[in-house]
This record gives sequence, C-alpha cells and structure tokens, in this order.
Amino acid sequence: MTLVTTRILSLVGAATLSLGCAAGPGGGGGGKGQGAGLVAASGEAPTSEVEADLVFMREEEKLARDVYAAFADVDSVFVNIGAAEQRHMDAVGQLLSRYALPDPTAGKAAGEFSDPALQALYDSLIEKGSTSRVAALTVGAEIEEVDLVDLAAALEGTTMPDVRQVFENLSRASRNHLRAFHDALGAEGVDYTPVHLDAADYDAIVSSGRERGGGMGDGRGGH
Ligand code: ZN
Ligand code: ZN
Repeated sequence: MTLVTTRILSLVGAATLSLGCAAGPGGGGGGKGQGAGLVAASGEAPTSEVEADLVFMREEEKLARDVYAAFADVDSVFVNIGAAEQRHMDAVGQLLSRYALPDPTAGKAAGEFSDPALQALYDSLIEKGSTSRVAALTVGAEIEEVDLVDLAAALEGTTMPDVRQVFENLSRASRNHLRAFHDALGAEGVDYTPVHLDAADYDAIVSSGRERGGGMGDGRGGH
C-alpha cells in the first residue's frame, strides 16, 4: 500500500495521539541505542496490512535518511537528524527480521527505492530542496509531516505491542524532528505552513516542548 499517497487525508489527531502518553521525562528505563529494549513478541502474527506497513515504513525511514544525507552540507541539523533516521531504519528492520519479512532496502544504494511511490517522492523532494537552504529545511519539515501521517495510519492498524512500540517511538522522534525544522526555518524568518498535517495538529506539536524517551534518538546528540 502506498501510505504517502493514499493516507494523507486520513490523518486524525496525530498530534494528540501520543503527546500526552509518552513515558515522560526519564521514564521508561531502557532503550539506549538502536532497538535495545524492543518488547517481546506477543505471539500474535502480523496481518498482511501490518506486514505491508512494516515493509513500507522501513523504506520511508530510508527516504528520510537519504534525503538528509543529500542535504548534509546545508546545515548540521541534517547530519544529526539523519543519524536518527538510520536508527529508525534499524528499529523497523528488527521487526522485519522478527517476522521474517523481506527487506525492501536490501541492496539499495542511497536514493534507490523498491517502492515506486517512494522513489518518485524522493526524486521530487531532492529536486525541490536543492534550490536553497530554506527549500532544503522546508523539505525536511515536509518529510517529518509525511512520516507522522503514515505512522499514525499504521498505528491505527495494529495492537501488536512490539510494532506499536517502534511506531510510537518513531512518531515521537518525528515530532522532535519537525520541531527542529520548524525552529530552523523560524531562524530564517520563515513561518512554515504544514502541507500534510492538520494545522491544529501541527501547531500543537511545534508549540510544545521536545519529547524524550524511546531510545530512537532525536537528532540532537546523545540518545
Ligand atoms: Zn524517522
Ligand atoms: Zn525524522
């Protein structure tokens, strides 16, 4: 399924989904490093929809990583957040391994994708972001928006605790990344207007503080 293209309109309450139910500062304990602390499998087998979501999100995290790598010279924010995207890929990869699912990124170089929709999105974002520093930062914000929309849709589709753990951690990190891009654009005098998230959801995210926890990294150093 092509979450990016078909689920943009289905976003409901992404911002409220977990702003209030994170483990909280210092809570949660584990999770230093990539994927450490992945909860045990519940014994439930993923549905075909969940399988598709996992395969898709693995590659969508790669898209974020590869776009940010392409813009690494623009601003250090891309370097820091790009490192987090690698950890996100790894976290989804753990689930692909756990459920013996195919890895769509196997053998794919930077900028190469199995899913044609993600390939097209990557190509368009690189072109769009290459014109200026503000354009690159704007693309960063847009990627995080798409991530949040797709993660919210994927979360609606499963009760599996390990899958939800990873998707919730990725969502938390994406909200932090969105805040970082929002702030970087603000420093350039640009008031970013969301293109995928509902305006109220976007405002709720960027007007609230950075979230901790989850062990996925937030692109600001450390874990
Ligand atoms: Zn990510
Ligand atoms: Zn991100």
